[in-house]
Amino acid sequence: MPRPILATVHTEALRHNLGQVRRQALDARVWAVVKANAYGHGIERVYEGLRGADGFALIDLAEAERVRALGWRGPVLLLEGVFDARDLELCSRLDLWHTVHCDEQIDMLAAHKTLKPQRVFLKMNSGMNRLGFTPERFGSAWTRLNALTQVDEISLMTHFSDADGARGIAHQLEVFERATRDIPGERSIANSAATLRHADATRGDWVRPGIVLYGSAPDFPVHDAAHWQLQPTMTLSTQLIGVQTLKAGDTIGYGSNFTAEGPLTIGVAAVGYADGYPRHCTTGTPVLVNGVRTRMVGRVSMDMITVDLTNIPDAKFGTEVTLWGRSPKTGVLLSIDEVAQAAGTVGYELMCAVAPRVPFAAQGPADDR
Ligand SMILES: *Cc1c(COP(=O)(O)O)cnc(C)c1O
Repeated sequence: MPRPILATVHTEALRHNLGQVRRQALDARVWAVVKANAYGHGIERVYEGLRGADGFALIDLAEAERVRALGWRGPVLLLEGVFDARDLELCSRLDLWHTVHCDEQIDMLAAHKTLKPQRVFLKMNSGMNRLGFTPERFGSAWTRLNALTQVDEISLMTHFSDADGARGIAHQLEVFERATRDIPGERSIANSAATLRHADATRGDWVRPGIVLYGSAPDFPVHDAAHWQLQPTMTLSTQLIGVQTLKAGDTIGYGSNFTAEGPLTIGVAAVGYADGYPRHCTTGTPVLVNGVRTRMVGRVSMDMITVDLTNIPDAKFGTEVTLWGRSPKTGVLLSIDEVAQAAGTVGYELMCAVAPRVPFAAQGPADDR
């Protein structure tokens, strides 16, 4: 019998969240961002739920091959473009669109022998200072690309640093619009946070949502997933494999960093940091036991955590424990964003970090409750 831990991907929730994006960005086409193996969900497992998107955007060429292997004939975009001249051959063979963010990538294209011109997204650094041409150099990069026979249509893109926060996007949007005023081509500017929070960003031709598709609020804790009407797409669940009854003064786990103030019943759940449950979670991190919200107590071990059973008197060996997502038996929700906050991180990281030893199940419409 394998350990009871399980990650479940919810197909209907993916479809629902994509629908929320469409409602928000009525006129834009939607890139479903599936980089990092679909934010840890598995590209093959999210495909059914996200195939209603207009295209798939990702980073790794091997992941682009997997999207094509699933039978997707529509657009696929490499968000960081090619890493090596040979990647352009794969772009030709698989008809991948690719970002161009630096001179080296233009050099590779200029030297590339292809029968079919390639569609590219020229990226501007409008203030994030990661990838892209500065506004001053953007026009000349476009002119150079436009002169290449290897290049077909050129679209324009940029990326926001503060779409989820107080600084917002206005300063970058202004830079982008000023520098692209006289340049033709489709625009792609909005990530999840910009799509939900900034209507002026969804005027672009393509939006690029990632995290919202996976049911996590991009601007938590200002807003939560319920506010944006998002549904969790991943559940991490397990079971209790032990129960202990403590008396006042007893301690729990490594380092004895939790001491019972009075009589306390705790459960031991089969999940630990080797499963991707963050070791930074401390006493107080929310957990569902049989659908009842309680708290983790003590430290996260490699294979186990301990939880307070005060309000769940009937909990015993085999009782369901939900770390995030939707409690399989009761349907009660626990947002991954809350757990991430308790660990000092974001939902993105938790999804991406589910360990290879955790088995996954895809849950189709028929099993969804
Ligand atoms: C990852 C990524 C996105 C999606 O970001 P979310 O915050 O998950 O919506 C959009 N655009 C680019 C260029 C990205 O790298």
